[in-house]
Amino acid sequence: MSICPVCRFRSNNWGDVASHIHDMTSRSDPPHVMWLNRNLSSREVSSQELAGTLEDYFSLKGGLSSWIRGKVIEKIYGERPHPFILAMQKPNRAVLLGYVIEHRHFLRNWIRVLSMIVYKTDKDDVARYELENISQEFLGNGSPPHYELLIRMGESLGLTRDEIMSYDPLPSTSSSIKVWRNIAETRSWVETMASMHSMELIADKSLRNYGSKMHYFNPSILTDQDYPDAVKKFLAEGYNADEYHAWKALELVEKYSQELGVVEDVQVSFLRSLDALSKYLMARLERAMEFDPNLIKFVEAVT
Ligand SMILES: [Zn+2]
Repeated sequence: MSICPVCRFRSNNWGDVASHIHDMTSRSDPPHVMWLNRNLSSREVSSQELAGTLEDYFSLKGGLSSWIRGKVIEKIYGERPHPFILAMQKPNRAVLLGYVIEHRHFLRNWIRVLSMIVYKTDKDDVARYELENISQEFLGNGSPPHYELLIRMGESLGLTRDEIMSYDPLPSTSSSIKVWRNIAETRSWVETMASMHSMELIADKSLRNYGSKMHYFNPSILTDQDYPDAVKKFLAEGYNADEYHAWKALELVEKYSQELGVVEDVQVSFLRSLDALSKYLMARLERAMEFDPNLIKFVEAVT
């Protein structure tokens, strides 16, 4: 099955999907035009050429999880790495506070969406995986949960717990959360699982072996005296845990998407999630600018 990544128009071949996208873009439909510009090319191409490009873009040469990893690297760590990742190579107080304030909302939503996977799946290995993940994030297993470590990072940077809790999410964070909730509510649990856990790949330190130019943050921070212990603790948790989390999840996604015959749907939902992630990472920087207006110069220089 070939599926339009924007509106899910379906056909048995890429030729039909290419003609459909060509038709939509010649009518200047904004979502189709934007998708093409952002993901394939901003120059005008014939419907025939587009069919080949789409087929190549969606082809799974090394399996679904490798395809997902490749797209994450391309979008977040590619030619122009995401500005938030660049800022994390030597984050100042403002960048870390932007991270804390927006990420609190992300994590609250994270566990709610994972609960939807548990609700919808009939596979025990999937339910167990997600329940472990939810408890790790929210309850902790004998050690403080990620959610608590995040708040402590904010406190170590000079905000009170009440202040951190008082912020509503920025519009970009809210709109990304809406995308993930919409996937959870309207699509299959396998698509939801791919959409959520592929995001953990951005912190996977092994991405360097697959072409990523840098880590999620500069690992020297973990031993740098200039950063409070609570910052190092929060970053170290993700640095050590997410790699295992993401890969285990993507193995389950690969297995069940084939079994249930929804591989192409998974690809399309994952791409939607990746766009939402990119937007959400910008929201962290947008919030950071409230604490350090000079960051705008950095953002302008790298975008
Ligand atoms: Zn379409």
